[in-house]
Amino acid sequence: MTRDDSWAQGRVALVTGATAGMGRGLAIRLLKAGARVIATGRRLERLRALEHEAGSQRLLTRVLDVRSAPSLQACLEGLPEDFSAIDTLINNAGLALGLSKAHEAEIADWETMIQTNVLGLTRVTRAILPGMVARNRGDIINMSSVAATYPYPGGNVYGATKAYVRQLSLNLSADLLGTAIRVTSVELGLCETEFSLVRFKGDAAAARAPYVGMRPLVTQDVVDVVESILRLPAHVNVNAIEVMPVQQSFAALAVDRKA
Ligand code: NDP
Repeated sequence: MTRDDSWAQGRVALVTGATAGMGRGLAIRLLKAGARVIATGRRLERLRALEHEAGSQRLLTRVLDVRSAPSLQACLEGLPEDFSAIDTLINNAGLALGLSKAHEAEIADWETMIQTNVLGLTRVTRAILPGMVARNRGDIINMSSVAATYPYPGGNVYGATKAYVRQLSLNLSADLLGTAIRVTSVELGLCETEFSLVRFKGDAAAARAPYVGMRPLVTQDVVDVVESILRLPAHVNVNAIEVMPVQQSFAALAVDRKA
């Protein structure tokens, strides 16, 4: 079978968190497949590096901190005409901070996760959605996590933010019935990116530990999954998809046996 490498031709994609990991990988894949891509993130030097690597007129980079309404407004203001009709929204920007138990966690870390993963994603979606509805065309890919469904010690607020992403995705589909817009919650297990380095605040040894002795997902795996969702016929909607490495699975319920 010959592979159609121009499957994204004609699309205009906005990718949040395109300075690293999966967002960067998705921005590059969409560009290679013919889309116009607005790649966003907070780190300007990373956006410049992406421009340099891509060397494409179909790439537009914009600084965006999803936690900030003015930053979002500035990002979307004055988009060139051929980048303005966004029909593919990759809500990827997000982070986990810390792995402490709830009674020991930093409240500032919790606030940052909520502001980024919940409020940021919500705000971006609300800004882009009216255009999609008006044009009756759009795909929204929301990066959630298996932590949305399966609890683990120290997952407290991170998992809760991702459960929000999952439920928002499903509720968006409820509101969008009657339109051609598709919404998918992509729920991932261990994937080796800068995620863990961010979670453990630059501690490289702690960041490496979750992946030791096992083969995690890598960015290309996730990019392949998202591409396969976007390539499905227009009448097919994947509500939610869970993807984990083969070497990750579930544990039994924990029991305190001190009694
Ligand atoms: P990375 O840390 O490699 O990338 C995260 C991206 O999010 C960066 O580009 C970062 O850019 C951006 N980001 C963080 N905060 C903000 C902000 N306030 N405003 C705008 N952009 C922001 O992680 P991943 O690629 O692994 O993570 C991508 C998504 O996948 C996240 O939502 C994460 O929760 C989710 N996920 C990851 C898993 C994993 O194991 N890796 C598992 C399950 C879900 P910058 O710092 O430049 O702003």
